[in-house]
Amino acid sequence: PRPDSVTTRNPATGETLDTYRRLTDDETDAALDRAAEAFEAHRQTPFAVRAEAMRRAADLLDEGAEVHGALMTREMGKPLDQAVAEARKCAWVCRYYAEHAEGFLQDEPRETDATRSFVAYEPLGPVLAVMPWNFPYWQTLRFAAPTIMAGGVGLLKHADNVLGCAEAMVDVFRQAGFDDGVFQWLNLDHEATARVIADDRVRAVTLTGSSRAGRSVGSQAGQALKPSLLELGGSDAFVVLADADLDRAVEVGVAARTQNNGQSCIAAKRFILEAPIADEYTARFVERMEALTVGDPTDPDTDLGPLAREDLRAGVHDQVERAAAEGARVLCGGTVPDGPGAYYPPTVLGGVGEGTVAFEEEIFGPVASLTVAQDQDDAVRLANATRFGLGGSVWTRSRERGERVARRIRSGAVFVNEMTKSHPNLPFGGVGDSGYGRELGRPGIRAFVNEKTVWVE
Ligand code: NAP
Repeated sequence: PRPDSVTTRNPATGETLDTYRRLTDDETDAALDRAAEAFEAHRQTPFAVRAEAMRRAADLLDEGAEVHGALMTREMGKPLDQAVAEARKCAWVCRYYAEHAEGFLQDEPRETDATRSFVAYEPLGPVLAVMPWNFPYWQTLRFAAPTIMAGGVGLLKHADNVLGCAEAMVDVFRQAGFDDGVFQWLNLDHEATARVIADDRVRAVTLTGSSRAGRSVGSQAGQALKPSLLELGGSDAFVVLADADLDRAVEVGVAARTQNNGQSCIAAKRFILEAPIADEYTARFVERMEALTVGDPTDPDTDLGPLAREDLRAGVHDQVERAAAEGARVLCGGTVPDGPGAYYPPTVLGGVGEGTVAFEEEIFGPVASLTVAQDQDDAVRLANATRFGLGGSVWTRSRERGERVARRIRSGAVFVNEMTKSHPNLPFGGVGDSGYGRELGRPGIRAFVNEKTVWVE
């Protein structure tokens, strides 16, 4: 029999937090009815009314940032200051779509043989979002804000370890004044999620998570002929060319690898170092990684908290051991500490070769893989020698050179002399095994609308 409840745990201590009962099939059915009904009303509301409530949601996220942040930290272990910043960034994306939704979805007149022809953007209906724990608020809000502003309604199946976050976000939308059916969370296992994907009342599916989850949920959506958007894993290249500002490239490289306890999809994961600076970069990078403070994520001095679950730590450690067995040099870290909590030390793997674990797989923890490139062309080749393509970065003192190299990297985004980050006004998404479709910006709100042609004689 399927377990009928889920218990969350604090990964910093191992202590249990809360227990959440799975929905029964009848309860799921009622929630889908509520979503379908709410959609019919919500789609008729003017943009200004939606925007007003969305701005209230933003205010609630801002005012409650400390509380929401503490909840994220308790459930998945990210340093508290980063969690509070995440809540504020969610307020930002709510305000962004409150302001821009109407413009993004305005009718677009087109010149044809008609008296009048135009494109209208209409919401599709209830959208199911399957979301991960690593940015438990941000991933959810970056789908929910545009979906709701477009007149659609959201259904959230969150990762099992952050169900308190799911509940709290539902409260935010209710308190902001949206109808109960406009944003709901569903406590479902994978099997029950599959039934919801197949259900006629659900019109589209978005997933953020691993490539494995993407394959499964994407194929279920395909089977049901529903559009899907997949934001999946990455193993992004951080390319340091010989003329880079090494001080910045080391400092930002460490942050890009270890932010969010090393569990970010767009984290720098493979460091591709041009030969002339490889030794110096490596020495300085290792020194900085070793100097990070690992510990209690609620302590303001902590750089790196625990991984989000013990099983995830076991997986990361297994990857490190397999990488070492294949010849990677463990330059620091690489051991599981004693004591409670799912902690893992900052780890640097040197001499990582193509075709090995640390080059081919996504490592979702504070583990950097270093590979030396002979020259710029070799660096580009190595950066592209991956199935993933989410958000690379290039480091060089020449902005022109940086832009040229950026254009050659096969990836959803490339940043020059900055770590890859998301911004409400910039489309975000991947190529290859990193997924398809774009969130944020204009594409993020057009992802789940019917782009409808109207032709009038
Ligand atoms: P995950 O294990 O793939 O889980 C993501 C979500 O998918 C969870 O809600 C999970 O539910 C659900 N799920 C997995 N398999 C499913 C299935 N067969 N049917 C229905 N639901 C399923 O990923 P994670 O460990 O939470 O997150 C880390 C991964 O997400 C990394 O690969 C990271 O790179 C990627 N990520 C990508 C982006 C991006 O924007 N591209 C952003 C953040 C993270 P359960 O918890 O119930 O298993």
